[in-house]
Amino acid sequence: MTALTRMPLASLTTARVGGPARRYLEAETEDELIIAVRAADEAGEPLLIIGGGSNLLISDEGFDGAVIHIASRGLDIREAGDGTAVLRAEAGHPWDELVAHTLSEGFSGLEALSGIPGLAGATPVQNVGAYGADVSQSITSVRAWDRTERAVVEFANADLGFGYRDSVLKRSTVNGSPRYVVLTVEFALSKGSTSAPVRYAELARALGVDIGERADAVDVRREVLRLRAGKGMVLDASDPDTYSTGSFFTNPIVDEATAAALPADAPRYPVADPGKVKLSAAWLISHAGFRKGFGLAPGDGTGGRASLSTKHTLAVTNRGEASAEDLLVIARAVASGVEKAFGIRLHPEPLLVNCAL
Ligand SMILES: Cc1cc2nc3c(=O)[nH]c(=O)nc-3n(C[C@H](O)[C@H](O)[C@H](O)COP(=O)(O)OP(=O)(O)OC[C@H]3O[C@@H](n4cnc5c(N)ncnc54)[C@H](O)[C@@H]3O)c2cc1C
Repeated sequence: MTALTRMPLASLTTARVGGPARRYLEAETEDELIIAVRAADEAGEPLLIIGGGSNLLISDEGFDGAVIHIASRGLDIREAGDGTAVLRAEAGHPWDELVAHTLSEGFSGLEALSGIPGLAGATPVQNVGAYGADVSQSITSVRAWDRTERAVVEFANADLGFGYRDSVLKRSTVNGSPRYVVLTVEFALSKGSTSAPVRYAELARALGVDIGERADAVDVRREVLRLRAGKGMVLDASDPDTYSTGSFFTNPIVDEATAAALPADAPRYPVADPGKVKLSAAWLISHAGFRKGFGLAPGDGTGGRASLSTKHTLAVTNRGEASAEDLLVIARAVASGVEKAFGIRLHPEPLLVNCAL
C-alpha cells in the first residue's frame, strides 16, 4: 500500500483542482482497502474515498484527513447458460474499460453507459446514468465495507434504494464520508450483440431506430461515444471542455405547480414520485441567460480561468489554471441566475469537499 503525506489532490480529479491531503493511501486490493479504512476509523481520522475523481470538487485547502484512492482492479464474467451472465467488478476497475470489455466478450446491456469517466465502485453511489439508461437497471448486488458495523455487507438491487442520481450509499454519506465503502459490484448482462432497448430520442435518431427498439450494441457504444464527445463529456487531455465534473447540476425535481409556471417550451419529464416533475437544468441555465462558454469573456468573473463548457451549459470547466474557488464562482453565478429567473434552486451533482456553493 502506497502512503504519502501532503499529496496534491488536483492530480487525482478530472476538474484538476483540489489542495493537499494530510495523508494519502492507494489501496490496490480489497484487503488493503478494508485495512486502510479500519485504520483511519480507529484513529478517528476524517476519511475521503476517491475513485476516478470525476464527481468531486475538492477545495483549494484540500482535505485534513486520510484520503484513500481505490485502485483494486479486476473483472469476472460468469455465464448462467440461459443467455444471461453476471459480471463482477472490483471497485477500482475503470468503468469505460469495463463496458468495452463486456462488448468485446460478446455481452450487452451496459452499452448506453459508454464513455462515463470514473471507476466501477462509484457507479451505484449516484446511480450513474446517461442516454436513457442507468446502472440501477443492471446492478444485481453490491458488496461493501460497513464502517458503522465494521463488517462486509451485501445489498441486493432492491435494498439500494436507487433514485435519480441517488442511492442508499449516497444518502448515508456524511460530510463527504461514506458509511459504506463499495468493494465489488455485480451487473446482469445478456449474451449476444443486441443492445438493451434504446430509450433516448437523440440516440435513437443517431442509430436510425425508434425509441424502445434495439440496435447492435457495438453501434450503440460508438454513437454514444460520438454524441458524448460532441458535448465534451468524454475525457480528453487536449480539450479543457472536459476538465470538469461532468454535469455540475442535477435536473431539478419540482412540484407540478412550479413546473406549470415555467414557459410552455420548458422540457418536463415524468418521475416515479406522484405530483412531481423533472426539469432540464441545461434548459433553465441557458434560458436564464447563460451561454456556452460563460466565464470566458472579460468581466465574467474569473478572468477566463473557469467557465461553462463551450459545448454544453451544464459543465463548469477549468480552462487550465483555475482554482476550486474559480469553479465555484461560475457555479454560484449560474445557480443564483437560475433562481432569480425561475425561483428554482439548482443542486450540485458532484460531492463538494470542504467547500460549498
Ligand atoms: C466529462 C464527464 C462526464 C460525466 N458524465 C456522466 C454521465 O453521463 N452520467 C453520470 O451519472 N455521471 C457522469 N459524470 C460524473 C462521474 O463520472 C460519475 O459520477 C462517476 O461514477 C464517478 O466515479 P469516480 O470513480 O470518478 O468517483 P469519485 O469522483 O472519485 O467519487 C464520487 C463519489 O463517490 C464516492 N465513492 C467513489 N468510490 C467509492 C466506493 N468504492 N465506495 C463508496 N464511495 C465511493 C466518493 O467518496 C464520492 O462521494 C461525468 C463526469 C465527467 C468528468
